[in-house]
Amino acid sequence: MTDIKEGNNKGNKGVVLRADRLNEDKLERSKRIGVLDIEAISRAKVLVVGLGAIGNETVKNLVLSGFTHFTLVDMDYIVRSNLNRCVFFRDIDANQKSLKTEVVGKAAKELDPDIDVTIHTAKIQDLGDDFIPRFDLIFGCLDNIDARLHINAHSYYNKIPYIDAATNGFIGKVQVILPPETPCLECTMNKTHYAILQKRFSCTGADITYFEDKMAAEITTTAVVSAIQVREGLKIISGKREKCLKNIFYYHGINNMSDELELELNPDCLHHMH
Ligand SMILES: [Zn+2]
Repeated sequence: MTDIKEGNNKGNKGVVLRADRLNEDKLERSKRIGVLDIEAISRAKVLVVGLGAIGNETVKNLVLSGFTHFTLVDMDYIVRSNLNRCVFFRDIDANQKSLKTEVVGKAAKELDPDIDVTIHTAKIQDLGDDFIPRFDLIFGCLDNIDARLHINAHSYYNKIPYIDAATNGFIGKVQVILPPETPCLECTMNKTHYAILQKRFSCTGADITYFEDKMAAEITTTAVVSAIQVREGLKIISGKREKCLKNIFYYHGINNMSDELELELNPDCLHHMH
């Protein structure tokens, strides 16, 4: 290896200088792809809601893809059972019960000191109606229906693209929502979802958050789902909406299967019925 390197350096200095210059730009290899609008990506204001397994992976992918303006929302602290699938979390974070927002925000800045990161340790529902309209793109990395529907409604009425991801063991799902033209999350709600919401309100009358049961989770499915989620975001910000998934990507890691499911607008949807 050493001989080859020295030979190149001595025999062809022009090539070495050019290679050095090309290696100085962090996004030089991304720019070679052509379809990506790196300028637009660096300008986009991105909201990531949920900083568990998918949120960790998605923030990592977004930073490395050249996004620079981040707002991160999560209300939880780190526990040891997060550590098998969250690239930014360490033992010490679980021991200290550190906040996910603070740890991911700091780690993202370490990954690229040129980015700006704003964190909100809160439920997305508590951040007010004027919060979501500030963003160009929303990534949902959540574990509860309430927060998803809150984002969906604000995404729809403010026409902000929303990419929602979920996993359960080796099964993963990504939904791309480009309001108002594509089906939204509400369009895909089934009777089970509504039964859960109805139970929530009828039992207590109070506005409590329903968390989905603890799901089986591991990093390989998380990584696949997050990669698809961020890739779709790159297309949207690069002006390639027509190339986006229509509308759901399903992944089954044990059966080696992935599929794309195009949905229809649901005439009974709270949003699309208008
Ligand atoms: Zn809808």
